[in-house]
Amino acid sequence: MAKPGHAEIAGAGFGGLVAAIGLADRGWSVRVHERRHALHAEGYGIAIQDNMTLIFAALGILDETLAGGMEIDRRDSLKGNGEVVLSLKNGLGRYRISRRHIVSLLAKRAERSGVEIVTGSTVVDATPDGEIVLEGGETHRADLIIAADGINSVIRESLHLTARQVWQKEGGVRMVIPRLAEDIAIDTRDGTAMIEAWSEKRRILYCPNSQTEVYIILTCMERDTAGRATPVDVAAWHRSFPTMGPLLERLSRDTDWDECRWVRFQTIRLKRWSAGRVAILGDAAHAMPPYLGQGAGHAMMNGLGLAVAIDEAPNLAGALALWERRERPLTEHTQRWTRVYGSTIFLPEWLKSLAINAEKHIPWLANQYGRAAQHIPTGCDPA
Ligand SMILES: Cc1cc2nc3c(=O)[nH]c(=O)nc-3n(C[C@H](O)[C@H](O)[C@H](O)COP(=O)(O)OP(=O)(O)OC[C@H]3O[C@@H](n4cnc5c(N)ncnc54)[C@H](O)[C@@H]3O)c2cc1C
Repeated sequence: MAKPGHAEIAGAGFGGLVAAIGLADRGWSVRVHERRHALHAEGYGIAIQDNMTLIFAALGILDETLAGGMEIDRRDSLKGNGEVVLSLKNGLGRYRISRRHIVSLLAKRAERSGVEIVTGSTVVDATPDGEIVLEGGETHRADLIIAADGINSVIRESLHLTARQVWQKEGGVRMVIPRLAEDIAIDTRDGTAMIEAWSEKRRILYCPNSQTEVYIILTCMERDTAGRATPVDVAAWHRSFPTMGPLLERLSRDTDWDECRWVRFQTIRLKRWSAGRVAILGDAAHAMPPYLGQGAGHAMMNGLGLAVAIDEAPNLAGALALWERRERPLTEHTQRWTRVYGSTIFLPEWLKSLAINAEKHIPWLANQYGRAAQHIPTGCDPA
């Protein structure tokens, strides 16, 4: 077992906080730098699947976490005209929970384990020999540095670790609106519903986020200027989804548009996940389009997996190699299959229904999509 030392972590998101807890629980002293002035996860809701609930259970915060969200009983996949093509029990996420709720619980849990979280602290560089540089020039030395600084990681770039950065042709905008009686009515048939509607090269994902909120994502091509407009272009989206006029009107009226921005999806692969004393974690190492709802799942799995590998291996170099060997294949599997799932958007309308239904009739395909969700993360016990 490597002797516990001191870790400096850039980023108090899902990956950074879970790694911080994992290390602190194994005797490390840990400081997390978060560039925002308050802990404020971006993007409202998040799909929580079985692999993620195992992590919350391992950290002892499962009940509190689930208490802040909604259990989702089925996913209805729709054509643009509203026809239900597929209705699946528990498809793509058993729970939908507010990101802020999760990040705030992770932060409290980290602080209970002795982690120091410094907000308003931006890391601008890190060196393989274990030094981080903060904006303003202050430096800190550490036995381990974790770059969990998200999709636009400055540390990853300063270490020249990127092997492939693919800007996808599409992206999305996330929003949240109040949950009304008409939303609750959708849920009366067979439990709480998540709805995923596909039309042309646009997609609407609709899901309750709590008893009082509904979370929506609109995805479309980058070149679709009407589709990616914020505030939403109701007429343009109504053309693709003629039965969803009232929902689109509500989006236009009830969304806090200052909080929303359209983001283009990216896939990132690294040459390797570490350099010297620096480990790259989460979106910084392996960003992926969000169709399978596993980006945060992998950030958390790999955060805990890193702490476990460090505990198991005789030295840091061995631990980082073990960690990458153990966690990277599944992460890259999800990167590939989230692209496959998202490619439905590019299919002609007649083929879309067949592709959506394939998941129900070809168990092998459903297993590819669900492999991360069914995985027992390193450091977790089966439920
Ligand atoms: C539309 C959309 C929907 C998604 N839906 C899901 C879903 O349902 N389920 C799911 O699992 N995933 C989903 N994801 C993916 C998920 O959001 C990410 O994979 C996840 O947030 C990655 O976690 P992270 O900790 O690596 O990075 P982040 O959550 O991005 O956290 C990084 C943190 O680092 C901070 N930071 C950045 N730079 C610095 C710096 N230089 N110094 C200090 N701090 C810094 C940031 O402020 C941030 O707090 C979705 C993504 C998108 C775009």
